[in-house]
Amino acid sequence: MSTKVVERKPLSAWERSYIPSFLGGLGVTWNHFKRTAPFLGNKPITMEYPEQKWVVPEGYRGAPYLVKDQEGATKCVSCQLCEFVCPPKAIRITPPGENGQPADRANAEKMPREFEINMLRCIFCGLCQEVCPEEAIFLQKDYSLTGTSREEMVYNKEKLLKLGGTHAGIQKWKHKLEEAEAQESFPVATEPQKHSH
Ligand code: SF4
Ligand code: SF4
Repeated sequence: MSTKVVERKPLSAWERSYIPSFLGGLGVTWNHFKRTAPFLGNKPITMEYPEQKWVVPEGYRGAPYLVKDQEGATKCVSCQLCEFVCPPKAIRITPPGENGQPADRANAEKMPREFEINMLRCIFCGLCQEVCPEEAIFLQKDYSLTGTSREEMVYNKEKLLKLGGTHAGIQKWKHKLEEAEAQESFPVATEPQKHSH
């Protein structure tokens, strides 16, 4: 096997002085400066975060919060679908139990006694929002959640509802009673049907 010996040129005294490398570095800095310095007519490319914040686009998927309906009632019915589907197991729901507090709206069977989301685990994937049959949980625009302890990062029902606010939309249970009554008197054909062949 032939070997190629690469000649390594010794550095000259000028190169060994580091001055050319130093000037080269300054040149790179100067070029960046020319392209970015605001007083040279460039648009600022930095932002004074957190005093200034960027506007996230429509449909941005940030932290998931619980919402209330347009009448101020809790939409969540404690079905626990979101808890089941959540990949990192960030949701923990405590159902009301047999004799627990009833739902705060008519015709709803129940609402959660406690509903917690561990924001340190949540990956903002949106599966909870996708599966919720009540449109009770939505990923909102918050992307910067901070706290000084792990406990503080577990948001409880009260906090989630407060942050989530109101979200008008379906009120599935609102007309449940009328719908059930209407079904009782659903017209059923008593006469034998005539079939045409
Ligand atoms: S957004 Fe994803 S990770 Fe976060 S609570 Fe919902 S399902 Fe879980
Ligand atoms: S947020 Fe939706 S999916 Fe989760 S328990 Fe409540 S109703 Fe069910």
